[in-house]
Amino acid sequence: ALPRVTYSNTGTDFSAVHDRLDRLFPQVEAALADAPLIRPLIDGAAMSGGEGFRVSSPIDHALPVATAEAASADMVVRAVATARAAQRAWAARPWDERAAIIRRAGDLLDAMKWQIGPVLVIEVGKSRMEAMGEAEEAADLARYYAAEMERNQGYGRVLPQARPRESCASVLRPYGVFGVIAPFNFPVALSVNMISAALVTGNAVVYKPGQINVASGRLLVQAFHEAGVPPAVLAFLPGGAATGAALAAADLDGIVFTGSHDVGMAIHRQFAAGPWARPVIVEMGGKNPAYVTASADLDRAAEGVARSGFGLQGQKCSALSKVYVAAAVKDDFLDRLTRQTATLRLGDPRDRAVFMGPVVDGRAADRYQAVVAEALRDGRVLMGGERLAGGIHDRGHYLAPVIVDDLTPDHRLNRDELFLPVISVQGFDDLGAAIDDGNRVAYGLTAGCYATDARERSLFLDRAEAGALYVNRASGATTGAWPGHQPFCGWKGSGGAGGKGGLGPWYLPQFLREQSRTIML
Ligand code: GLU
Repeated sequence: ALPRVTYSNTGTDFSAVHDRLDRLFPQVEAALADAPLIRPLIDGAAMSGGEGFRVSSPIDHALPVATAEAASADMVVRAVATARAAQRAWAARPWDERAAIIRRAGDLLDAMKWQIGPVLVIEVGKSRMEAMGEAEEAADLARYYAAEMERNQGYGRVLPQARPRESCASVLRPYGVFGVIAPFNFPVALSVNMISAALVTGNAVVYKPGQINVASGRLLVQAFHEAGVPPAVLAFLPGGAATGAALAAADLDGIVFTGSHDVGMAIHRQFAAGPWARPVIVEMGGKNPAYVTASADLDRAAEGVARSGFGLQGQKCSALSKVYVAAAVKDDFLDRLTRQTATLRLGDPRDRAVFMGPVVDGRAADRYQAVVAEALRDGRVLMGGERLAGGIHDRGHYLAPVIVDDLTPDHRLNRDELFLPVISVQGFDDLGAAIDDGNRVAYGLTAGCYATDARERSLFLDRAEAGALYVNRASGATTGAWPGHQPFCGWKGSGGAGGKGGLGPWYLPQFLREQSRTIML
């Protein structure tokens, strides 16, 4: 068997994985180019008549990914009604049956990873290792929630009898129909995360992938349907902002969203204006710091910072974008960080040696230009700022990783989420004060600390305001959370309205409501 990738792509020999991918890319590209039109699916039936759109690869705008039709507002209404009609029977199935179906979906996703991985490279512009890691994470996510359902025995509990002749129980029951809205950057893992959780707990799902992710979205829906999820309880609604707005306005019992802060908060407000307080589970952006103290292993820190800042071109909500370095080691660390960053290859991510591919679209490239101009004007740019040109690089947006120092602490680039390959550096004399400054942003998703000193590590763990903390991690650093290992919860503007993250043991109960059952004996 070939080694699993699981994002930890250092120290293992993946050449056999690469050899297999070398053979697969031409096939997957041909299959995408010849693939039939992708349409909305309601109860397994393809709907026609929606507005058509084309998706091309961020790697090369001449490389086709998909042609599709968006779900219209009428189709969204119909999908929700169909899901609602079918949900009761799905919820009535014994929980262990649902868990077995979701586990099977995970196994199918695992078997499909050689198709999903290359599609993700082409569709999103991920590196091979990021893409294979994501496909494997998706499979593990479905299996993890199946196991959680079993571990909790379907979340039913008989309560100790308080009164004579009365039997009391607490059961957790599904809400009904959940809207699932997924982002472009982890289209398979995050969709499978939200869909598996909603389905295994007995809800029906109407699912909208990111607009560019219709090819991967269609594949994962196929896995759930083939595994035995009744087609009526999982609708597939491709489209852009109009489809998303129609979905958020539909007659849903709950919504689960991963994406930008602004869209997530708009959904939150819109949902709050509804007829009652329905669950809104939102996972949004980040402005994620790492702290490098004087006791740190500086090589490990440089590797971790570069990888988590520049992996997927910085387009992760978990991406590191700010590094605080103890003044005593700052020059030494920056020297190692720039050297480490220079080893990260930028280019066509179908190439096995490439670590960074293109950013997703022209808007991201425009934001990069603006950020670079500000960094040059207001700070000291240590490296980066240019875009690759010539050949394929003219048919995508290939942007060099940026490291900038000497910005004022309140500079916009130190406060706003950029979602770009940009790291800003700040020196510090006092770790506690640095952590307080890192907390002084509207987000709180991930944070990292590099220190061998135990007191520094516990100061970080006690004080950092973020849902996912990482200490002394090199390869994946502050990204690459894994189901069952790193629950992924956003604090503050990063989301997690229920305060419980995906990938962890408290996620599923958010898709359930309690019912107490008292029976006189
Ligand atoms: N699961 C990813 C990680 O831990 C982040 C997901 C995201 O960026 O939305 O890096």
